[in-house]
Amino acid sequence: MFLSDLGSDWHAARIEPGIVHLDSASAGRSSNAVIEAITAHLWEESKHGSYVAMDAATAALAQGSRELAALIGHSADEVVYRDTARAALRALLGVANLPLAATIWVAKNEFGPNLVEFERRGYAVHTLPQADVYGHVDTDALENMLQFEQPDFIHICHIGSAVGIVQPVAEIVRIAHAANVPVVVDMAQSVGHVSTTTGADVVYGTSRKWLTGPRGVGFVAVRPDSRLPVDTEALAAGTTGGFIAGRLGLGAAVDELITLGPDRVFDELAGIGRAVRERLTGIASWEVVEPVDERSALITLAPPPGFQSADVVGVAEHLRQVGLLVTPAVAERTPLMLDTAVLRLSPHLDATREDIDRLAAELRTTGY
Ligand SMILES: *Cc1c(COP(=O)(O)O)cnc(C)c1O
Repeated sequence: MFLSDLGSDWHAARIEPGIVHLDSASAGRSSNAVIEAITAHLWEESKHGSYVAMDAATAALAQGSRELAALIGHSADEVVYRDTARAALRALLGVANLPLAATIWVAKNEFGPNLVEFERRGYAVHTLPQADVYGHVDTDALENMLQFEQPDFIHICHIGSAVGIVQPVAEIVRIAHAANVPVVVDMAQSVGHVSTTTGADVVYGTSRKWLTGPRGVGFVAVRPDSRLPVDTEALAAGTTGGFIAGRLGLGAAVDELITLGPDRVFDELAGIGRAVRERLTGIASWEVVEPVDERSALITLAPPPGFQSADVVGVAEHLRQVGLLVTPAVAERTPLMLDTAVLRLSPHLDATREDIDRLAAELRTTGY
């Protein structure tokens, strides 16, 4: 039985998977229409020449950008494509006009590789205080801090890589803007998953996760009145070699989401997250890390006491061998919150109660 009313349609739009796929946070399963959009364009490129095919796809590309822009609260001409979210962040930092020793504030759920990008540029990174044990940003403390000091920008992972808490981004943006501080939002885990109209100055993300578009497409969008000074012409330049077929695939994926109704999809995913957390609470000393009703379908299980990261990797490998695909999320990806690996489950709309029952049974009987 599907956990979501949208499950059977979403499932029917894709080929039958060879595994119970609970790994959308790594890469969601693309629909047949997405795969068709990509391959159709590859055939056109071979038939007519790549640039001719690109010109012929102008209207479809523009529509894809418009729909993606609507989803992230920007306009189409602000959307710039890169190969990945990380490439988008690098491109952004390369053209942002920042002082030499820039100061940036991040939340507890910051993505490890982003911290590497900041450190490599010599930024001073400070972690915002958390409002609760889960790691949500303490917005009252933020408001107070901003009266005494203003960072060059605040960088927030709307949802981090390994813990499914959703940061109150719209509220953070409102408070930061009152102090004239720019906010940059990493939407890699939130776009296609929760509402992503945030009002932030700059947002960036990736196609392949919750949007279930192809790998190899990332995006960044800068508001025209961005408080972070960005050379947007330089940001947009030099992308003529990009993966056009992939952008069309992403456009098809966004189009499907819009047809289903984004708000409905986000509600259903939140309901799946809650149902899975309820089902997995109290299973053999594994601990659900998020509040049960956190509005995301990214579910994290911390291992029983005494487990090392290698044991978590072992459990994930065992699960894969019995047909259940989850991620052993290493601590380095969420270094400000975790010190051992955790199991990350990220079901999409076609998760079934039976899948989760099987997962619970495996966790209970696994030899660890
Ligand atoms: C996956 C992820 C990224 C990086 O996305 P890529 O497209 O692989 O570069 C960035 N931030 C978060 C929070 C992620 O989960």
